[in-house]
Amino acid sequence: MQGAFAEHIRALEESGARTRMVRTREDLEGLDGLVLPGGESTTMTMLMERVGLLEPLRGAIEHGLPVLATCAGMIVLANEITDAMEGQHGLGLLDIEVRRNGYGRQVDSFEAGLEIEGLPDSEFPGVFIRAPLVESVGDAKVIATYEGRPVAVRQGNITALCFHPELSRDRRLHKEFVRLASQVPA
Ligand code: GLN
Repeated sequence: MQGAFAEHIRALEESGARTRMVRTREDLEGLDGLVLPGGESTTMTMLMERVGLLEPLRGAIEHGLPVLATCAGMIVLANEITDAMEGQHGLGLLDIEVRRNGYGRQVDSFEAGLEIEGLPDSEFPGVFIRAPLVESVGDAKVIATYEGRPVAVRQGNITALCFHPELSRDRRLHKEFVRLASQVPA
């Protein structure tokens, strides 16, 4: 709908996947996996609601569609959003409480080396841009932290990141997602 999708497309294709943009409910048909990119969660949710994509998206994720949600994408899925725009609600599919722009404004964007579960060889370069801050985690499992706060979580078919893996050269997270998505029966 909106946001950093071009970089995700490149990262997915470099990881061996074929891609398509999802802009209508029909576009959801037959997918093996879905990336919810970074951008502006309020705009994304509003646009998805307007074109009738929000509820089909919820259904597809509830049915087990593998999802990689980054930054704003994480906010879109969350159970609870603090500092939400008026009327903004998460889809309630990811059991975390998240604070929009919790790491500060655009000027406070930063990069940090992260140890991520399942990527043992070296730190992953995490690019944080007006990133959401995970305030608390319920049923989701924390797979990476930064300064004691969760920055990557997994819950069933959902992997959600506070940072932007598509903006680094490191393709390990996209490769892992493509591998995982290709194993789940569509
Ligand atoms: N602050 C944005 C939001 O609330 C997220 C920023 C991002 O995706 N880089 O949606």
